[in-house]
Amino acid sequence: MPAPLVTIQSSTHLPAQADVVVIGGGIVGACAAYFLARRGLQVALVEKGRIGAEQSSRNWGWCRQQNRDARELPMATQSLSLWEEISAETGADLGFRRCGLLYLSDDEAEIAGWAKWRDFAATQGVTTHMLTAAEASARGAATGKPWKGGVFSPSDGIADPARAAPMIAAAVIGRGGTVHQFCAARGLETEGGKISAVVTEHGTIRTRQVVLAGGAWASSFCRQLGIAFPQSSVRSPILSVMPGAKGIPDALHTSAVSVTRRGDGGYTLAVSGLASIDPTLQQLRFARSFLPMFAKRWRVLSPGNLSGLKAGHETLKRWALDQPTPMERMRILDPRPSRRAIEMILERARQLLPELATIPMQAAWAGYIDSTPDGVPVIDPEAGPEGFLLAAGFSGHGFGIGPGAGRLIADLVAGDRPSVAHRQYALSRLSRGAWGKVSEF
Ligand SMILES: Cc1cc2nc3c(=O)[nH]c(=O)nc-3n(C[C@H](O)[C@H](O)[C@H](O)COP(=O)(O)OP(=O)(O)OC[C@H]3O[C@@H](n4cnc5c(N)ncnc54)[C@H](O)[C@@H]3O)c2cc1C
Repeated sequence: MPAPLVTIQSSTHLPAQADVVVIGGGIVGACAAYFLARRGLQVALVEKGRIGAEQSSRNWGWCRQQNRDARELPMATQSLSLWEEISAETGADLGFRRCGLLYLSDDEAEIAGWAKWRDFAATQGVTTHMLTAAEASARGAATGKPWKGGVFSPSDGIADPARAAPMIAAAVIGRGGTVHQFCAARGLETEGGKISAVVTEHGTIRTRQVVLAGGAWASSFCRQLGIAFPQSSVRSPILSVMPGAKGIPDALHTSAVSVTRRGDGGYTLAVSGLASIDPTLQQLRFARSFLPMFAKRWRVLSPGNLSGLKAGHETLKRWALDQPTPMERMRILDPRPSRRAIEMILERARQLLPELATIPMQAAWAGYIDSTPDGVPVIDPEAGPEGFLLAAGFSGHGFGIGPGAGRLIADLVAGDRPSVAHRQYALSRLSRGAWGKVSEF
């Protein structure tokens, strides 16, 4: 069974023109379209498959400030308020709640790292509580074992990946925008170096502004425009279990396994960072840029298989605008999880949380997580021709910060004062050797 996902109806007609075309209906594209439509701009959101069907429905649902890179923290903090704001404005159930995130550990170095982050967070006005051994063991009572320490971030929360992007896209229609599923954007047209149109498989939309929020496909799309965007994706396994377990925290992270309570009362189980690297030509091209990140995560990364090559999202090919493109051949990236990984996650979860011992597995799936070399997204209105904004490379954190990213994108497209500082998201930082440190957390 694949990741659960609410489906919505598309708009009936592709518009001949729009103020802004947003390419990609994941959480980032949906939120960008929402905030643009809320400003009264005529927005068309085009998605090659179903809204939310790639990364944005396949994730844990964590919306966290905890352990965020300094460059992302203001957007993460703002996003938490925006999750509430969008839910209230639309009346849609996005499954968002500030349940707090609980991290438990027996590793003193890890606990010290969390304490260091807590000190930094305090300077940014973000509160997070370090837990003594007694407090950690009490909060982690469901594990039935003592812990050396932990951290609890009370203002963080979770949202429902099955609902969030589709419900927000539906609200775009409610605010006068249009949403087009099974409608791949094949490419862009320019006049005098400025965007003039988006060519989709179903026709051309004239526009002066384009947002590319194409997730794992963004770099191959950029290549058609002559833009080098260092991006790589890894295949990450995840599973859900049926409802029935009691007393388990809503969101718990340990190095062995992490669990998240779902809307139906079941839990999502995964191991942080666990992923396979499926080789692709794009990966080879950007290998040098990604080596430090992969080296840092070698314990949880393993060599993958040919499914990345077959999927075509990281192709180096150029495509024609009057022919079907790789996006039309692969409507939804739905890679298989490694069976061994799924068994391992389930076993670890049942060992850690005795309540799960008799709860059957419900579903298992995988997602390609797209990353930049420094683990921080690119949100850049100057990455390509005038009128083009690139928003991708959310590096495993994009679900929680989707609302903040969408709001920032709308600010930049509309020419308004950016709601958060954005220069740290420029593509130029990733030109070889210039991108500095890999995100610590
Ligand atoms: C297993 C897993 C666990 C994760 N856990 C978390 C978590 O707990 N918290 C968190 O914050 N993040 C998490 N993430 C990361 C998060 O899911 C992503 O960062 C986020 O969803 C990225 O959103 P996006 O909109 O950029 O991309 P996506 O959701 O991948 O959406 C991009 C969309 O663009 C479409 N598209 C691409 N090219 C075109 C085109 N040319 N024309 C039309 N459409 C196109 C695709 O079909 C796709 O639907 C996790 C990811 C995975 C896989």
